[in-house]
Amino acid sequence: MGVGKVSSLAVFVLALACGLALPAGARLGLWPQESGGLLMPVLVGLIVAAVGTAGFWLVFGGTLERDIRRLRNRIESYGRGELSGVSGKPRFWMAPLARCVDQTFGKLCQKNDKLVAERRELEIQCRVTEAERQHAEAILQAMSDAVLVTDSFNEVALANEAAGESLRFGVDDARHQPVDRVITDPSLVKLIKDTRESGNLVNRRHVEHTVRDNGRSRTYDVTLCCVGNTQHEVAGVVTILHDITKEKEISEMKSDFVSSVSHELRTPLSSIKAYVEMLVDGEADDEETRADFYNVIQSETNRLSRLIDNILNISRIESGVVKIQREHISLPAVIKEVMDVMQPQARAKQITLNEAGSPLYYQVYADKDMVYQALLNLVGNAIKYTPEGGTVDVDTIVDEHSRMVTVSVRDTGVGVPPDALPHLFEKFYRVSDHKKIAKGTGLGLNLVKHIVETVHGGRVAVDSEPGKGSTFSMALPISDGIS
Ligand code: ADP
Repeated sequence: MGVGKVSSLAVFVLALACGLALPAGARLGLWPQESGGLLMPVLVGLIVAAVGTAGFWLVFGGTLERDIRRLRNRIESYGRGELSGVSGKPRFWMAPLARCVDQTFGKLCQKNDKLVAERRELEIQCRVTEAERQHAEAILQAMSDAVLVTDSFNEVALANEAAGESLRFGVDDARHQPVDRVITDPSLVKLIKDTRESGNLVNRRHVEHTVRDNGRSRTYDVTLCCVGNTQHEVAGVVTILHDITKEKEISEMKSDFVSSVSHELRTPLSSIKAYVEMLVDGEADDEETRADFYNVIQSETNRLSRLIDNILNISRIESGVVKIQREHISLPAVIKEVMDVMQPQARAKQITLNEAGSPLYYQVYADKDMVYQALLNLVGNAIKYTPEGGTVDVDTIVDEHSRMVTVSVRDTGVGVPPDALPHLFEKFYRVSDHKKIAKGTGLGLNLVKHIVETVHGGRVAVDSEPGKGSTFSMALPISDGIS
């Protein structure tokens, strides 16, 4: 029996007891039979109402309760989205309520379906946007150019690692920080702010900008452009810094090279021209003077051809079109040839040119002319950058373990400052203080490096102390099976 029925039965029994007790109590004189004529009718009315209600509940309570339970189940099934669980036709008094529930649920279902579809669409869009964002960020991080994006409040919205390295800030900490707190260079900050304030969404600005940091300066080609939002307002600035320090150095080196090559070419050429003119004009009237003139012309022609050879050899090796004629050669024999050729130059400067005895039986499998050229350049430089009265020693060391033979050329010359050492073998590089000591093109050591390392798989090295002298060495692999 349901709770409703039990409570209805209880009310019914209580009301019946009251109905019987009232007249009995009045007859026993417990309360007046007529108390102003009001108490009895009110009490009777209440008892009749209670009896009526309880009686109604006794008869219909169960049905009503079942209907309400069914309606509740119906709503709960809808709530769980179980349309199949909704069955049975409601009784006539519940029909409007059930219809209302059905209609409301139907509308909710439609809305829910729409929302589910929209959510799916949004999820797909989110995934696509996230993939695109990751893609864009990967591209940004892979770029060697520094990229910095600032928003409309001049705060850093995005920056890649290259930007952090170039402008010396931590990329992770920089996000959402004011740009003037992230970048220490005030002129670059001003450029970014000015670009944003200009509000020019069409044109991009290109500026050459030099950043100085701890005595080191780097030059950048800076591109600045405004980013617009959907209302075509300036929403931020993208700043791209392309490091052109190396290009600028190379271009300076090239112009230095062009001027020194033209000078180097002009000097022997003018000398040749002058001596040829004197010969044509008959100014050399005796045999001895003519022989002197011919000698000068010959040596100047040799100098010219050496310079042109150097330029051509480097470009041939670099472009890989050089013809290499390898053979088993005795390195000491090549050293001896170089020493013989360089002796006159050394003697002219009272420089002592020594060669420590080397084991003749070691051979290298190499292009003889190239090895000769490399050694000639090293010994030539040693004489060139050593003041009069100095010493140049050529030594050979054999390392059986690594199967390498190293020829070192040690001089007591001007030496090389430590900061110049890493650049010595670069093309066109010359130590600036040495430009007044001797003429040159900055190609000799680059050619040595190409011959030894690129062509023969060896190694070049330098050790130097300014004012005391330098040791340049070239190591070549010993040829196998030859002794
Ligand atoms: P060049 O001598 O024609 O300038 P190199 O390529 O042979 O070109 O040498 C590059 C630079 O290295 C020289 O300009 C010079 O400054 C430095 N250098 C080379 N050899 C020596 C040396 N033995 N002592 C001191 N400096 C040297």
